[in-house]
Amino acid sequence: RAKDKGGGEHCRFEPALHATAEERRRLEASLRTAIHGEEFVLHYQPVVDARKETIVSFEALVRWNSPEHGFVSPGKFIPLAEDTRLIVPIGKWVLEQACLEARKWPEHVKVNVNVSPEQLLEPDFHQDVIKAMAASGLRPERLEVEVTESIFVRDAATARNSLEKIMALGCSVALDDFGTGYSSLGYLRTLRFSTIKVDRTFVQGAAQNSNESLAIINAVVAMAKSLNMTTTAEGVETAEEAELIREMGCDKIQGFYFGRPMISDEARRLFKRHPYELKVG
Ligand code: C2E
Ligand code: MG
Ligand code: MG
Ligand code: MG
Repeated sequence: RAKDKGGGEHCRFEPALHATAEERRRLEASLRTAIHGEEFVLHYQPVVDARKETIVSFEALVRWNSPEHGFVSPGKFIPLAEDTRLIVPIGKWVLEQACLEARKWPEHVKVNVNVSPEQLLEPDFHQDVIKAMAASGLRPERLEVEVTESIFVRDAATARNSLEKIMALGCSVALDDFGTGYSSLGYLRTLRFSTIKVDRTFVQGAAQNSNESLAIINAVVAMAKSLNMTTTAEGVETAEEAELIREMGCDKIQGFYFGRPMISDEARRLFKRHPYELKVG
């Protein structure tokens, strides 16, 4: 068949491209039934107070265990779920589950839930939040929604409106992966994010003595402070990185050093051992 089209270099890539489209189609078909098949599970990763090293929150991270495809990482299926809008029902499930789970933790521990632009732009997103609160009995103050700068690209006015509604309920909002997306700073003037999450790439850069990364983290921390927002450093993997980040004045730390994403039982066990504080390691 390649020859029919005249041969040439690019034809070598055709089978691979075809496989990718075919794989995508199969993944999408499986994704459509995954939610009813109870194939999703949430893992929880601790977010730690940088100075006290106590757990202040857990971020809920969805995992898909497909009978057909095995374990599929969120980096692979979340973009697909977003393209197909399947993220709307999946995200609703994540929100409900995370709130139900957080209800079993000590009162001072929050839960962070990632919300995609497609979800946030749904006209009744705040109703989903209200329902999740009602079903779980979780106080809205214990829910922190995580959004990325990408929400401001498509329909900034609707995104802002949606966030203001859930802030009015008492929930907080964190700006995730800060510095990697479309970074107009204009929205920081009027939207009261509680937390800016400094992306892992800057943390890794700082650890490798990149002066640019250090300068950017310092600037973000200073900016957040004057805006009355807190900062969380993502992707802290070693004691040295934790120390560096603490010295730079980040308020919270999240990363493999303090804990990998874990199953709900394991998260709950941490509280049984240390009801009010956790020093991991
Ligand atoms: P994110 O929200 O920025 O979540 C942090 C990601 O960094 C997680 O990857 C986590 O496992 C990983 N991570 C945490 N600490 C470290 C570390 O020290 N080193 C390294 N190398 N990685 C670390 P994960 O779970 O694979 O999720 C990837 C992304 O998928 C998330 O990035 C988020 O954007 C998206 N995602 C995950 N769960 C959901 C969900 O329920 N809904 C939506 N809309 N998106 C989700
Ligand atoms: Mg996140
Ligand atoms: Mg992040
Ligand atoms: Mg990320």
